[in-house]
Formats: sequence, structure tokens, C-alpha cells
Amino acid sequence: MHDTDITTYLQGGCRCGAVRYEIAADALPPTYACHCLDCQTWTGAAFSQQFVVREEDLHIHGPLTLFELTPPSGRVSRQRACGTCFTRVYNTNSARPGIAAIRAGSLDASDRLQVVAHIWTKRKQPWIILPDSVPQWHEAAPAEQLFGVLGVSGEVLRRAEPKN
Ligand SMILES: [Zn+2]
Ligand SMILES: [Zn+2]
Repeated sequence: MHDTDITTYLQGGCRCGAVRYEIAADALPPTYACHCLDCQTWTGAAFSQQFVVREEDLHIHGPLTLFELTPPSGRVSRQRACGTCFTRVYNTNSARPGIAAIRAGSLDASDRLQVVAHIWTKRKQPWIILPDSVPQWHEAAPAEQLFGVLGVSGEVLRRAEPKN
């Protein structure tokens, strides 16, 4: 790549390879871990790990299947998974239009990611010892605080503000 190019393309995909994506970015994204019970159930693991990008920067190919979940809050969560192997790849939420939360383990370079925030630590599994230096929230973090730690720009947040 020419050294005047600041944008690179991060790549990732599902377990079977049918779904692949590229993300326009200038660096590896910081990630956060959610230790809530829903994430433990949904991932089958101790916590979920994700990062956020502008949906317009995500280019995805392959047989995506959609699962919509509307919790009592009324904020519709739209989960996209590979229609072949059912790897959950990313989701959007009606509370934050224009932002996609990508399952960090689907990134090809997942071994180089850093976790910069932990949320729902009151439900974390007891064997997980978190470093004191990493910001933590007992429950959900206010979006502007979490996005601040993740370095999501004010411009992205303003574009993603709820319309109603
Ligand atoms: Zn797949
Ligand atoms: Zn969670």
C-alpha cells in the first residue's frame, strides 16, 4: 500500500467462510467486553467482545440471515449471522442507527485486538480477573461514556442519535 493511503481495509468473516467483510478503517479498532448474562447465553462463552464501526464503512458479502429481537425497551436489535454456519457477525440497534457492532472474534486480526472497556462486570464469571487499569462498569455503560473510551467520534455519535 502506498504510504499516502491512510485508510486500510480490515477483513473478517464467519466460521465457514461463506460470509466475508471488509471495513474501511485507519487502525485496528479498540474493543469492549460485555459480561452480561444475555451475552454469555448468546455467545456460549464467558463474555462477548465487540467493536463498533459506522455501518456505511462495513462492506459485507455472503448469505446473511437476520434475527430481530425487541426487548421491553423497544429498541430493536437486528442481528446478522451467516445463513450457512450461523456465526453471528454483527448487529445494529434502532437506538443507534448507523452504527454496527461487530463480533470481534470474526475479525481476521482478532489476535491483535485490545479490550479497552468491560461492561456488566457484576455478572462476570468469577475466574476472570480484570486489570484495574481498564475502565469498567458494573452494568451497562452510558453510550457516550463507552463510545468515548472506544474513541468513536462525536460526529459518528451525532449522526447516530435517535431520531425520535
Ligand atoms: Zn458461515
Ligand atoms: Zn451483554
